[in-house]
Amino acid sequence: MTEIGAKLHAHVVELYPLCRSITGDGLRATLRHIAAAIPLHVTEVPSGTQVLDWQVPPEWNVRDAWLEAPDGRRIADFARHNLHLLQYSEPVDRVVGRAELDAHLHSLPDQPDLIPYRTSYYARDWGFCLPHRTRAALPEGDYRVHINTTLAPGSLSYGECVLPGETAEEVLFSAHCCHPSLANDNLASIAVAIGLAQHLAERRRRYTYRFLFAPGTIGAICWLAANRDAASRIRHGLVLTCLGDPAAPSYKRSRRGNAPIDRYAAQVVDGARIHPFSPTGYDERQFCSPGFDLPMGCLMRSPGGAFPQYHTSADNPDFVRPAALADSLDVLIRIVDLIEHDRHWQNTAPHGEPQLGRRGLYDGAADRLALLWVLNLSDGRHSLLDIAERSGRPFAAVRDAAAALERAGLLVTACASGA
Ligand code: ZN
Repeated sequence: MTEIGAKLHAHVVELYPLCRSITGDGLRATLRHIAAAIPLHVTEVPSGTQVLDWQVPPEWNVRDAWLEAPDGRRIADFARHNLHLLQYSEPVDRVVGRAELDAHLHSLPDQPDLIPYRTSYYARDWGFCLPHRTRAALPEGDYRVHINTTLAPGSLSYGECVLPGETAEEVLFSAHCCHPSLANDNLASIAVAIGLAQHLAERRRRYTYRFLFAPGTIGAICWLAANRDAASRIRHGLVLTCLGDPAAPSYKRSRRGNAPIDRYAAQVVDGARIHPFSPTGYDERQFCSPGFDLPMGCLMRSPGGAFPQYHTSADNPDFVRPAALADSLDVLIRIVDLIEHDRHWQNTAPHGEPQLGRRGLYDGAADRLALLWVLNLSDGRHSLLDIAERSGRPFAAVRDAAAALERAGLLVTACASGA
């Protein structure tokens, strides 16, 4: 196990027991954990606030919740696993019959030993989630329902870590943090985002980097409603989800389909694992809504819904692999390297080929083909990404060739901002 993989996995283990939701104390505790690792500014949006076409819901908190069978056994207990309680369950304390209870139970007949994850944010309801095997064995009789929750005016919390760069133009990374005890779907991306922010904090940055940790959908909508101007500064972005399972990295394109971020991702992610945009999935639904149409794709390993552990108690810290977290971080660092180094250059000696041997550029250290491609296409119109794509040389080789040519005085900056 690599040191970085173990470090990222420790975040997943520590955050796993907290009962996060789209509002409430578990969400705040999660943001406090993130704030202990990276600088974080937390915003609280009061319940009832109108945000775009939505309204911030009441804040939900849980004291305890359990379901007792006629023989006194607790067959579902929030204290044992927070997935047992339907998220946003209203307070209930009464005795119900087997038939009435059944309308409030959620289970998975095809995965009878797992607890499903269910929510009812915007329709008042209560319920318990439990293994189907347990549910199927419940006898007739009186069941005691005890749900001690509060649904009251409060606020929705989200956190932002901003690392200023040489320009105010921004790169946005967004991770949802509203799922309770679910590891790959939510905690893995939070952990990898923390790792990336720590990596970037120690380095020179051309762009300003913003990390957003917000509850899914309503949190992204709150942020967009409050940041219409910031949205116009975003040059590149990625929604980060499911970054800890053993599958290889995959990528979903932005709505634009051919934004620079889509082309950067294609340099790093296997082409067979690149998917077209669709208005489903995570917060790309909000960032790529037509009114914003931000250049943001979605980086993941297994797409949400495409692994059997998805939204069940099997999505636990054991399902998330330290090596996968480390690899996801590495993929992101390589994408950031493209973002930082892609730019337009101008060949200062464009008439005929400049004599490279005389300048020590044919000594074998540099990629000769990359040198020739960079010289030929650096007419101010082609970026290094264009050159990498057209030449088929790796971006790193093209970037290094440009650096060597600049040192030799054969390239000058054509345009401060790439792409
Ligand atoms: Zn989810």
